[in-house]
Amino acid sequence: MKQSSLFTKTRKEAPKDEVAKNAELLIRAGYIHKEMAGVYSYLPLGLRVLHKIENIIRAHMNAAGGQELLMTAFQPKENWQKTGRWDSMDDLYKVSDSSGREVALGPTHEEIVVPLVKQFISSYKDLPLSVYQIQNKFRMELRAKSGILRGREFMMKDMYSFHADEKDFSAYYEKMKGVYADIFKAAGIGEKTYITFASGGTFSKYSHEFQTVTDAGEDVIYVCEKCRIAINKEVRGEQKTCPQCDGNDFSEKRAIEVGNIFDLKTKYSAPFEATFKDEKGQVRPILMGCYGIGLGRLMGVIVEIFSDEKGIAWPHAVAPFTVHLIEINPKKNPVVAKEAADLYDELTKDGVEVLWDDREMTAGEKFADADLIGIPTRLVVSEKTVNEKVVEMKLRTEKDAKKVAREKIAEHL
Ligand code: ATP
Ligand code: MG
Repeated sequence: MKQSSLFTKTRKEAPKDEVAKNAELLIRAGYIHKEMAGVYSYLPLGLRVLHKIENIIRAHMNAAGGQELLMTAFQPKENWQKTGRWDSMDDLYKVSDSSGREVALGPTHEEIVVPLVKQFISSYKDLPLSVYQIQNKFRMELRAKSGILRGREFMMKDMYSFHADEKDFSAYYEKMKGVYADIFKAAGIGEKTYITFASGGTFSKYSHEFQTVTDAGEDVIYVCEKCRIAINKEVRGEQKTCPQCDGNDFSEKRAIEVGNIFDLKTKYSAPFEATFKDEKGQVRPILMGCYGIGLGRLMGVIVEIFSDEKGIAWPHAVAPFTVHLIEINPKKNPVVAKEAADLYDELTKDGVEVLWDDREMTAGEKFADADLIGIPTRLVVSEKTVNEKVVEMKLRTEKDAKKVAREKIAEHL
């Protein structure tokens, strides 16, 4: 893509009311636009990153046997009354129309997915089943000061699994622990992400959160480096040792939950009478698990971790483009313009995603923008490089550029 045709421009300052580093950098670089507290639009660059994250998650969900669907954001009030959450859920947005009819704006989808799936499950032969969606959620977050880490409207992948017995549920739940670890590794935050014991388990004592260590986090966790697991401070209670190795060598860290997995047992199947007939013809309630990941939160965490005073430094897997191609003074030297155009065509044909800075700006301005936007590899074509038959190549994470022979550049990438 030519940068001259990108409608967003970088800016020196983020809005004054923006205090989160992730949003500040993403706004300045043109990835997102703040509409109000906790509500952000994704602009072309930002949407490219979001799609990369989405595709990583989708591939893993499909491999885990998940069937993708898309449920509604508008949800019937009756369903929420049935589970009691119409009154008990503090962060539920309730919307009413001119006739006075009220509906919920979905903060999560148990109230939709259970009655839906109930229509299709009658026998143990219909189980197990797992379905998921990637969709916007709405929550009345009171403190929406963490940029895209905590939105009032935000994108979530939510998966729901349905099982005939505890053994089948547990096997799936264990499998999802591995799938989640793989997702965060693929997105580039594996090293800083810990499976964390938290409260709220139904079968077991714990539920499991995936917490990424960052100063921007709102949670405090205790990390056992030996086992690479953690406990959430909220649940620590009597648990003063690592639940796995029983060691008490914990370090306290700030972290944010990027995903979680939860055993729901019959919490939602019971109120909706979602049942099935087992082998003996006996009617039993369906057992459930749910598995969430916040896509915007994941993107925000990546920015919090992979950034410096100059801007963002995207991990390869989620970068909006792979290469930022910068031409310097093409007007002065038409050979530079031709060389950049050729390189762009060549790389694009090879399937490399290139953002080509073809704007009329000084080298300094272009470099500053490239550092802010944070594409992993920067290529520079200038009068000097053309004369030397090289291209200057620099990784965003490295300080110095190196010269690569023009004909070797594709190989290097
Ligand atoms: P938190 O404790 O941070 O509010 P939660 O327990 O409410 O999270 P869940 O209801 O389990 O979160 O939602 C599943 C996932 O959705 C979370 O693991 C997180 O990644 C993401 N998420 C939750 N709330 C938000 C939000 N307000 N903005 C962005 N992502 C969110
Ligand atoms: Mg919450």
